[in-house]
Amino acid sequence: SIVGVVNDESGSVRLRSVSKSYGDAPAVVGVDLDVHSGEFISLLGPSGCGKTTLLRMIAGFEHPDSGDIIVAGNSMLDVPPHKRPVNTVFQSYALFPHMTVAENVAYGLRQKRVPKAEIAERVYASLALSRMETFADRTPQKLSGGQQQRVALARALVNRPKVLLLDEPMSALDRKLREEMQIELKLLQRQLGITFIFVTHDQQEALSMSDRIVVMQGGAIQQLGSTEHIYSEPANAFVAGFIGKQNFIDAIVVGPGVLRSSDGELITSRMPAGVAPGTSVRAAVRAESVRVTSEPPAAGVPAVAGTLAGISFLGDVMQYVVITPSGQEFIARAAPGQTEPLATGAPVWCAWDLADLRVFELEPVA
Ligand code: ATP
Repeated sequence: SIVGVVNDESGSVRLRSVSKSYGDAPAVVGVDLDVHSGEFISLLGPSGCGKTTLLRMIAGFEHPDSGDIIVAGNSMLDVPPHKRPVNTVFQSYALFPHMTVAENVAYGLRQKRVPKAEIAERVYASLALSRMETFADRTPQKLSGGQQQRVALARALVNRPKVLLLDEPMSALDRKLREEMQIELKLLQRQLGITFIFVTHDQQEALSMSDRIVVMQGGAIQQLGSTEHIYSEPANAFVAGFIGKQNFIDAIVVGPGVLRSSDGELITSRMPAGVAPGTSVRAAVRAESVRVTSEPPAAGVPAVAGTLAGISFLGDVMQYVVITPSGQEFIARAAPGQTEPLATGAPVWCAWDLADLRVFELEPVA
């Protein structure tokens, strides 16, 4: 079901029980992952979750304490970084300031003593791919951040890797440029059929480009799945909270489909199987699933009452902040014009569909 996946092993990456600690502190814990040839996969998670360490182990800059890293069917444990069939684009582009764009891109091939004519041809081809061919003779300081980022990409592509590792390559770009680059990078990846393993802490970035997303926390994979799957079926409260804007409500299970919270009873059609009454759970409803109304909703529609504390216009959506009697903040988002005119300070209801309230069992904190 993964679009564009090439049917061979040359761009595949398999991680088997990969672990790595720094001193006593585990950075990556027992990671198993199969990345297919031609797939765009993102490692997504908060700062310190281990995504960069994982990427650096695939590149060969770090060595796992245990486990195996298999690229194109071969174990990489004894293969030095420069002999691995992977290339890395780093967060800091580290272009040579005194060299032109073309010289920067050619540098690696010169080191490998590739014939001059071939270098010229490959440099031009990779600059064309990253749409920088007209800047070949400039030096990096005369380029914008986005252009420098493209040169860094060209410098990696010139090696014709089967696997490209990207460590937050767009973090230095402003939002608009980043969104443009996301579209281009995705198109380029499709066109080349290269496997991309992309590290980011930005959920929007991961959702917009990836075939599959790996959500990490505490050095371990919390969930692996297609973008749609991660969004619609988060495996736990951490993943739910990391993707999209969630409202969380701590509650106790009363019976089948019924919870008790400090703002009253809540009903849901999404109770996980086998959760006994009395269990503490965390319920979650996305901001875009919440409707704010001045009239109480019909009987049987899940809702909480509150006071409208704020309305803000976010461009493509209106955001409403509602405070419940227990002091819980509820965020609702809707397209402008979708909600009746409301004034701050007014009593309101936050309502949603029965299936939009997910329920997660609370896991003991490690
Ligand atoms: P960020 O988004 O901030 O880069 P990350 O998810 O990429 O975070 P890592 O850089 O992989 O996280 O770090 C994982 C853990 O390992 C962190 O607790 C970090 O402090 C630790 N760590 C990373 N590199 C080293 C190192 N060279 N020496 C000691 N500890 C390290």
